[in-house]
Amino acid sequence: MNLIQHFIDGKVFTGSSNKKGKIFNPATGKQESEVILGSKSDLDLAVEKAKTAFETWSNVPAIQRARIIFKFKELIEKNSDELTKLIVAEHGKVYEDAKGSLTRGLEVVEFACGIPQMLKGEFTENVGTDIDSWSTRQPLGVCAGITPFNFPAMVPMWMFPMAIACGNTFILKPSEKDPSCAMKLAHLFKEAGLPDGVFNIVNGDKEVVDAILENKNIPAVSFVGSTPIAKYIYENAAKNEKRVQALGGAKNHCVVMPDCDLDQAVNGLMGAAYGSAGERCMAQSVAVAVGNIGDDLVDQISKKVENLKIGPGMDKTSEMGPLVTKEHLERVKGYVDLGVKEGAKLVVDGRDIKLQGYENGYYIGGCLFDHVKTDMRIYKEEIFGPVLSVVRVNNFDEALQLINDHEFGNGTSIYTRDGDSGRTFANKIKVGMVGINIPIPVPVAYHSFGGWKRSLFGDQHMHGPEGVRFYTKLKTITSRWPSGLRSNPEFVMPVMK
Ligand code: NAD
Repeated sequence: MNLIQHFIDGKVFTGSSNKKGKIFNPATGKQESEVILGSKSDLDLAVEKAKTAFETWSNVPAIQRARIIFKFKELIEKNSDELTKLIVAEHGKVYEDAKGSLTRGLEVVEFACGIPQMLKGEFTENVGTDIDSWSTRQPLGVCAGITPFNFPAMVPMWMFPMAIACGNTFILKPSEKDPSCAMKLAHLFKEAGLPDGVFNIVNGDKEVVDAILENKNIPAVSFVGSTPIAKYIYENAAKNEKRVQALGGAKNHCVVMPDCDLDQAVNGLMGAAYGSAGERCMAQSVAVAVGNIGDDLVDQISKKVENLKIGPGMDKTSEMGPLVTKEHLERVKGYVDLGVKEGAKLVVDGRDIKLQGYENGYYIGGCLFDHVKTDMRIYKEEIFGPVLSVVRVNNFDEALQLINDHEFGNGTSIYTRDGDSGRTFANKIKVGMVGINIPIPVPVAYHSFGGWKRSLFGDQHMHGPEGVRFYTKLKTITSRWPSGLRSNPEFVMPVMK
């Protein structure tokens, strides 16, 4: 049995815990690995090493840090097939989708290569007579990241390349369901020339998370996962005086206006609702059919959902792979049962599919509900599976209100040919990432990623300019050098006259 350990101070490390987690291949249901679930003392050791490494790393000129990151980028490209296969083997998503998610992570690494430009700061000559002032951004110290199962490469790569480029050292606690890809990335970063102790991985569960939250030498925590845990991280990190960004769950709506290009909307929704088996925080799980478009929309989508090709992620013909674990499969099926009980119309039922040769895999077919109402739990809660709910409304204003009233505010889209509807939607919607005729509006690496409302606790989004702000502290220096002129003591607030 493959054993996944920790990566601390540049070495694979077993640690002191004898707790282990099981890792299954979702395509077959077979256990392939075990992961060590670390202890508080493993985490504390990693922090000690990262703290020592910070003393040197924070003083390495930004251009030299960038060169190591550039080499890391090359190594990711060279090893992309192996990294992608690790994602497929533990998460289950189809190969091309896994590769796409790796590329989106790689783009953050590319962005981080430009760190000298981003840390340049600001300078003003003569803020007062013979007085200059400048602002600079300095790293925080040992930063930590806690990540979810659904993007085992991309979400960690939203965090650690930015933190490390800014001069911090980093401890990653990946999801215990699929940690192998992160481990491989740590080895590649070392191969690129990253000094030992700068990037560490401590595998584990709540025990390691709590140890991160309590450790006084960690000034900043980044989290991505479900909303209840995001809130827990936010509250406890703040209580322990840490800077925190905690991204949570979602229920993303796609508004389909009667004037839209319906083919474009249907194709967009298919990918956004059923891609990665709906296990994306930016998945569109609600289609809001406006006016009289509902019947045509449901008719066209249902045909496509019935024909979805479900299969193992490594099969090139599969459009949708299995769910991540047996428990998650049961949970998603439970939501479909609930929707039927709540009175929604189940137009396509994917609960009972069986794949020959993969009878123990965690597969579910695409499911489609129509006439979903806003007081149903299948509308209110995040299902995180291939289940699309169609809600029908009379007009644009009702669609807008519906989305603004929802507790989550991660992503949303509108399909329309009308510029006024698109612009008003973008302006009035209380959601962090908005698409106009774009199904999954995930910002590219040089913008920043983050939702509103209960999809993000904290002030800053991830990667891009917000990432630089999160992982640095601003310092402003005001200086005067001795000249012939000597001033007398001043007891009033200095102002320029
Ligand atoms: P999760 O909240 O169960 O786990 C996330 C991380 O928290 C994992 O590392 C896990 O070990 C840890 N954790 C779990 N339970 C904990 C507890 N009780 N105490 C302390 N730590 C705990 O999330 P998941 O199931 O791995 O991922 C799916 C969720 O992540 C979905 O809700 C999805 O919307 C969300 N997500 C959000 C974004 C975003 O950008 N907003 C991106 C990806 C995923």
